[in-house]
Amino acid sequence: MFSEELEKISWEQTTKDIYSKTDADVRRALSKESLNVEDFKALISPAAEPYLELMAQLSRKYTLERFGNTISMYIPLYLTNSCANSCVYCGFQSSNSFHRTILTEDEILNEYKAIKKLSPFENLLLVTGENPAKAGVKYLAKALDLAKPFFSNLQIEVMPLATEEYAELKEHGLNGVICFQETYNKDRYKVYHPRGMKSNFEWRVNGFDRMGEAGVHKIGMGALIGLEDWRTDVTMLAHHLRYLQKKYWKTKYSLNFPRMRPSENGGFQPNVVMTDKEYAQLTFAARIFDHDVDLSLSTREAMHMRDNMATLGVTSMSAESKTEPGGYYSYPQAVEQFHISDERTAVEIAAKLRQLGREPIWKDWDQALE
Ligand code: SF4
Repeated sequence: MFSEELEKISWEQTTKDIYSKTDADVRRALSKESLNVEDFKALISPAAEPYLELMAQLSRKYTLERFGNTISMYIPLYLTNSCANSCVYCGFQSSNSFHRTILTEDEILNEYKAIKKLSPFENLLLVTGENPAKAGVKYLAKALDLAKPFFSNLQIEVMPLATEEYAELKEHGLNGVICFQETYNKDRYKVYHPRGMKSNFEWRVNGFDRMGEAGVHKIGMGALIGLEDWRTDVTMLAHHLRYLQKKYWKTKYSLNFPRMRPSENGGFQPNVVMTDKEYAQLTFAARIFDHDVDLSLSTREAMHMRDNMATLGVTSMSAESKTEPGGYYSYPQAVEQFHISDERTAVEIAAKLRQLGREPIWKDWDQALE
């Protein structure tokens, strides 16, 4: 399990390594076709800042070689804002008092139909807070069953599950699972996740192994930018990716680096701010580090950043997202998890992508392919 591997990697030493990378380390990394985690550290380090233009060119080149000029489009659907956890940065945390919504079967169907009216989305991401008692595996299985006639690619972003539970959901059409470790700093993890199942660092970090064991087709990973030193966190993520790729080599992987957005909670201020320039540097570094990994960008990011990154390394994007349950049909009264930044419609985003020379792809997977 990855938790055992992580024990062998010192957070402090990793931070030191990154901040002591030199110009020569960066140039060496940029000259290689196949990079290791040490090279990745060099590319995300302050020493690489003068090489941003060259990194952008390389990132664009590798992306075009592997993915052509396509951007895969997906849409998230929040099934519930009910959550038993207390993540200090999230508006859905259990101590926030507001009416919790768990969509009924009819409401879920209304959402699916409403989404299909927006654009020809085929990639659906079902999202929940963590309420295994009321929105657990059985509930998710039903939501997947209901989604099958409408969407060809079904992914979930929910609480970490047991291997058998992932396998069970695969039987209901599950194709991919996204989970964010938030931070790989085990000592600080509990500060941000004080109560509930999510406070168990090992259960979360080893969830990716369980996805791999269950044979989930695609695993999405990420660290939440805003908690701990972002360079150290994404280096741990790079270690994690390499570990999983070696062990579960049939699986496809995607990375996402969400920057913290204001939530309904309002009380938590990010400890770390990543500038747009640093965000771009990280995206380029990730592509140069791994030519095949899907790099995903959500509507958390602003329009200008999404448009720029669409031609420089990113390969999948959400559009017209609502982060409150029932948001697509007619339930605007539900509390949203965070406020999105890119508020354009899917049609507007698709038009912009075409103008930039990128082809939005609504369907890039079919169950029949498996
Ligand atoms: S981040 Fe997820 S698990 Fe944590 S409080 Fe929010 S919805 Fe719940």
